[in-house]
Amino acid sequence: MKRVQRIPLLKDHHSHPFLYATLAHCPDISSVSNKSEALSRIRGSFSGEEIAVVMGWNDSYFGFAECELDLFPPLVIFNISLHSLLINVGAREMLVGTFPELVANFRDGAWVERNTAQVLNFILSMKPCSAGQLKSYFHRLARLGVWHAEEMSLKGAGEIELFRAASLLDRTRFRTDLTTFETMTDAGQEQIYGIKLFADGALGARSARLEQRYLSGAEGVLVYADEELFLLISRVFDVGKALAVHAIGDTAVDQVVRVLEQVANGRQGLGETRVEHCQFISPHTARKAKSLGITLCMQPNFSLDSLCYRDRLPQGYCRLNNPFRMLLDEAGYAAGEDLLLGSDGMPHGVHCALESALFPPFPGQVLTLDEFVAGYCMSDYDNGYIDVVIDDVAGKVETQVVLKEL
Ligand SMILES: [Zn+2]
Repeated sequence: MKRVQRIPLLKDHHSHPFLYATLAHCPDISSVSNKSEALSRIRGSFSGEEIAVVMGWNDSYFGFAECELDLFPPLVIFNISLHSLLINVGAREMLVGTFPELVANFRDGAWVERNTAQVLNFILSMKPCSAGQLKSYFHRLARLGVWHAEEMSLKGAGEIELFRAASLLDRTRFRTDLTTFETMTDAGQEQIYGIKLFADGALGARSARLEQRYLSGAEGVLVYADEELFLLISRVFDVGKALAVHAIGDTAVDQVVRVLEQVANGRQGLGETRVEHCQFISPHTARKAKSLGITLCMQPNFSLDSLCYRDRLPQGYCRLNNPFRMLLDEAGYAAGEDLLLGSDGMPHGVHCALESALFPPFPGQVLTLDEFVAGYCMSDYDNGYIDVVIDDVAGKVETQVVLKEL
């Protein structure tokens, strides 16, 4: 028996639309699980004197030896998590003058996690983006069912101008890092909704900080000591902006909530606060976060990490990933109120988001359609809708996006 339902377009609460628009024309190997196919796509990515940029490398499928990449013309390959990258010898020679620190440190996972904003700026500097390109990227998002995409990594005032020129200011909301924020003018700062900090890395780079080591022996990264994090969080509230903290591993989520509790004690409560991803949040920490008024922003598509990162997650962790049922049924979280949903662009669009919400690898990860709509959809049908066919037996969904106009 199939269920048929109409839902609003998506409001993606965690994305990087400018980054993805900028890189939209770079080859993306995220769906390529076969190395020779990946190498042939890489071979096809070189044109002229420019450095070739390849996105979406998933190292659970295959790795690259430095010597094999050095045979290519200048080339940069980004891990699908955007938390690690490979720069071959040709590209290092071209970049060492402008990005000496990055060229010296890109192999050092802890350095990359401590300098996320610099790494993102590096990615963005490789390919300029025009207002036209941004507009066509938002057309593409709309066709995938995404109307609103919150910008989690604003590059600076220039990016706001590009959104204005493309008439897209009503389809996003801007968050940026503290350093970028502090270099902006008062008028620019007024356009910023919130500040984002990183407490740990990502599963794709084995740098999210779990209580146990990864199967490879890697430990993951905590970007800050408690005292540093306390000061940074306090600075964000002092400038009167909303806070978002990226924390994936259980150790990192524990740290963030522990420090937020200390901050709350010192200043009679918190400003508006979100924890991003929190894939391995424990029941104890979830209840504490709820009592502090912390909103969680999570990605149903990351439930699939339980399958694709089986090669690295410690024993028992696949089942603990994205514990939506615990959060909603036990810790008191409510979808659309203090549990919000987004994609992180991995991938964008309603199809993967909905299918992984309704039919995830583990029962503890299931969301109902109502919860999905509350946490992930626009509140109206003004710009279009999505017709959904749910096949509970096959565990599949079909989606058809209908737009009013573009
Ligand atoms: Zn993100």
